[in-house]
Amino acid sequence: MRRRDFLKFAGATTAAGSLAGLAGCATPTPSKARVVVIGGGFGGATAAKYIRLWDPSIDVVLVEREAAFVSCPISNLVLGGYSSMRDISHGYEGLRRHGVQVLQDEVVAVDAAKKSVRLARGDSVSYERLIVSPGIDFLFNDVQGYQQAMEAGAVLHAWKAGPQTAALRRQLEQMRNGGVCILSVPLAPYRCPPGPYERASMIAAYFKQSKPRSKLLVLDANPDVTSKAGLFKRAWSELYKDNLEFRGNSRAIGVDAKTMTVKLELEDVKGDVLNVVPPHRAGDIAMKSGLVTTNNRWCDVDWRSMESKAVKGVHVLGDATLSAPAMPKSASMANNHGKIAAAAIVDLLNGRAPQPLKIINTCYSFVSEKEAIRVSSVHEWEPGQGTLIAVKGSGGVSAARSEAEASFAWNWARTIWADSLV
Ligand SMILES: Cc1cc2nc3c(=O)[nH]c(=O)nc-3n(C[C@H](O)[C@H](O)[C@H](O)COP(=O)(O)OP(=O)(O)OC[C@H]3O[C@@H](n4cnc5c(N)ncnc54)[C@H](O)[C@@H]3O)c2cc1C
Repeated sequence: MRRRDFLKFAGATTAAGSLAGLAGCATPTPSKARVVVIGGGFGGATAAKYIRLWDPSIDVVLVEREAAFVSCPISNLVLGGYSSMRDISHGYEGLRRHGVQVLQDEVVAVDAAKKSVRLARGDSVSYERLIVSPGIDFLFNDVQGYQQAMEAGAVLHAWKAGPQTAALRRQLEQMRNGGVCILSVPLAPYRCPPGPYERASMIAAYFKQSKPRSKLLVLDANPDVTSKAGLFKRAWSELYKDNLEFRGNSRAIGVDAKTMTVKLELEDVKGDVLNVVPPHRAGDIAMKSGLVTTNNRWCDVDWRSMESKAVKGVHVLGDATLSAPAMPKSASMANNHGKIAAAAIVDLLNGRAPQPLKIINTCYSFVSEKEAIRVSSVHEWEPGQGTLIAVKGSGGVSAARSEAEASFAWNWARTIWADSLV
């Protein structure tokens, strides 16, 4: 063994040894290096799995605060009663089978100078490269009274799939026939551009079927539907004329739990169920770690490697990034970001320069229990602009809603869950 290799080996085993105690299992072979991943959502889980697939000599430690993965895609169907929390929940055994050490914990601090992260339980884990894929957190203060109303159970966002999804479904079930549900959409950019309109369709479908005198009122801060507008509006006018009303330029500035009202700039609107989605920013840990570069909300990255433009050695993925032009914040994109980062990190740790990848986005939306619509786009590296741009003439939207698109949508969901987690 050459001296340089010996030092690398010694450093790695020392670091691995300290982690072995923490993770409760030994590292069987000396590793080339350790990558720590924060967040086991679409971005982080994919990156963790693909690093192990492409170079099994790299140790990967994934820190995720939740015990299980709960998918936002398909969660709107749970609200309509067309799917279940069980369908959208998945364990992390698949990643463990790839040799990823999954720690259920929360990263509370990143020390980029010392290349280590601190866990809520108090231990530190060192890394050679760090991946941060924490998703979003909410700007609750932008909607006056939100925090108190949420604590009182009077308002939900259900924009992170999990307990709030189940709680919103219960509220819809308990609402009287003839009641009003308000869905408030924040100004773009927010995660999943078509997500609110799919949700509107699912809630309206449920009302039409089970509470026909009820109404869903969509209060959108944007002037109009921001994605697949023609297809959504056609479905709404043909299927839900009596159960769905859409109002653009209607930004929620406050919520009052006592009177069950959403405050807009010029009026207050009363509802029986309040589903108000506040504006978002990159997840807290990205803020705390100095990764946020833009508008105090998003993290700019080099799209060839997903490396942060603010902190070297740290790669940011998914919804937390400052999106490239025409790039949505989606599971499809986060999964692709995971692969860009995995390929780049494997290259860097093997002394090679990362190469840019071409990536595809596809977002399906259900407009009824059995019909869906789609939007897709292709994004490639443009050296002159130094970013990923949408390839001209690529992608597009479905010609019409159809049952075939709904079956593709279910297959897309099962495929991306397996690709990210199994
Ligand atoms: C209702 C809805 C429907 C959607 N439908 C679609 C769809 O059909 N198609 C599509 O492509 N996209 C869809 N999306 C968007 C998609 O869910 C997100 O874009 C995607 O989840 C982003 O992945 P991510 O890895 O950035 O974040 P996430 O998937 O949110 O993962 C972040 C993870 O990090 C963990 N975490 C955060 N901070 C820490 C910390 N400090 N320590 C430990 N763990 C931490 C969180 O617990 C979480 O598990 C939808 C979104 C919503 C809300």
